[in-house]
Amino acid sequence: MDMFSDFTMTIDGRGVQADNAFAVIDPATEEVVGEAPDAAIEHLNDAVSSARRAQPGWAATPWADRQAALRAISARLVDHTVELGRLLTQEQGKPFAEAQFEVGSAARFAAAVATQTADDVLVEDSELRRIVKRYVPLGVVGAIAPWNFPVLLGMWKVYPALLAGNTVILKPSPFTPLTSLKIGEILRDVLPAGVFNVLSGGDSLGPWLTEHSGIDKVSFTGSTRTGQAVMRSAAANLKRVTLELGGNDPAIVLPDFDVENRIGELFWAAFRNAGQICMATKRLYVHTDIYDRVRVALRDYAATVRVGPGFEQGVQMGPIQNRAQFQRVRALVEDCRQENMRFLTGEEVEHSGTGFFMRPMIVDNPPEDSRVVREEAFGPLLPLLRYETIDEVVARANDSAYGLAASIWSEDSAKAAEVGARLQCGTVWTNEVHFISPFAPFGGHKQSGLGVENGVEGLHEYMNVQSVFERKRVIA
Ligand code: NAD
Repeated sequence: MDMFSDFTMTIDGRGVQADNAFAVIDPATEEVVGEAPDAAIEHLNDAVSSARRAQPGWAATPWADRQAALRAISARLVDHTVELGRLLTQEQGKPFAEAQFEVGSAARFAAAVATQTADDVLVEDSELRRIVKRYVPLGVVGAIAPWNFPVLLGMWKVYPALLAGNTVILKPSPFTPLTSLKIGEILRDVLPAGVFNVLSGGDSLGPWLTEHSGIDKVSFTGSTRTGQAVMRSAAANLKRVTLELGGNDPAIVLPDFDVENRIGELFWAAFRNAGQICMATKRLYVHTDIYDRVRVALRDYAATVRVGPGFEQGVQMGPIQNRAQFQRVRALVEDCRQENMRFLTGEEVEHSGTGFFMRPMIVDNPPEDSRVVREEAFGPLLPLLRYETIDEVVARANDSAYGLAASIWSEDSAKAAEVGARLQCGTVWTNEVHFISPFAPFGGHKQSGLGVENGVEGLHEYMNVQSVFERKRVIA
């Protein structure tokens, strides 16, 4: 597609090419969507210098003006929703409606974050002394995003970082850099030069960024393994880190669940975005009394789901985003087959020629210690698991190195909340999943992460706290 072949990085407010470029592949067609600049270390150094130069001025800009800048970003994203959505479907694979929804969500979050403040807090005001807690920006923030929600997860970092008075370097995943590069371009006249930089590159760019002594904080979303590398490398200059990592979220279905009317909600909890959501349901625990009914209903529902290219009318599930991930998920399916596990759904691949397509796969009650239960598939593969008592299922749900989110499904919401309170994770939903508020902190317990995004706590992650002691009267 010629239309999208001309992508530039944004450094110091200008469009910048690199000597080399790399191809970005459409996972539905395996054709080249466009070429992205392959940043050299000099580009990163330039971006860091520019961001450092711009930072004091940006921090001195009144808070209200920075709020206005976020509203301007929001408006710009709204204006470009269709164009950005189209590009996102091309490089990421998700259905066009969902791609536009992602861009729309990014616009809504900008407007919502723009309402936030980080006001001084009075700690003590006595005759002798006044103590105030205040929040100050960190400096330059490096934002590293994954390929499943490239726009939303990248911009979640950019907004609070900018509002707090930092300048930012955004690094999208090499699998999905184009939409972020385009956003850099359309925001060039919205923000002062150097305040918001976007760099694309290969596997070296992330480590260069996390090691760079001119960067004060890294906010990272991706796998737990890479998160550990980021944390190690951030130690050199004691960068602040926020890590949003993997999950193996349980959903617990209580015996009073309305199977007939709500099976679709359970299905999409696991399979939206072809299962490539950090906070998707990855273990579905169903009470033994209704297990067989859920099994049949899920199988029948899965059979109706349209899998195909994101631009095709009526398609509900796109391909897996890249070949390596496709192979990883298929290897996990193969492992299930070798262990003689039973699948509720038969045919594995649709559009057998090109594209990384896979139909939703559901495994019938595999052993708790099997790979498909223990590991995050990050694809359209779900273990359906039978339980008998609440104590038992809570123990099984908590028996994981991850602790991102969980959901409880019941017609009795008080009972559901009671079970939810016993789970070790950062987010608990009852009778819904995936819902994120700009005003509620989101983050992982255990190895699902460190720190949070969103909410006032999320904003504070882009600021240092400073305690100011003001002695009022000197005793003679
Ligand atoms: P990934 O860890 O492979 O890559 C994430 C980003 O880090 C990419 O931009 C990549 O280029 C960069 N990167 C790779 N190696 C690096 C290094 N050594 N130093 C610095 N940066 C490096 O993850 P992915 O495959 O893109 O995403 C899938 C994973 O992300 C899943 O585990 C999923 O659960 C997780 N995820 C978590 C959240 C959350 O909010 N908790 C959200 C979405 C995805």
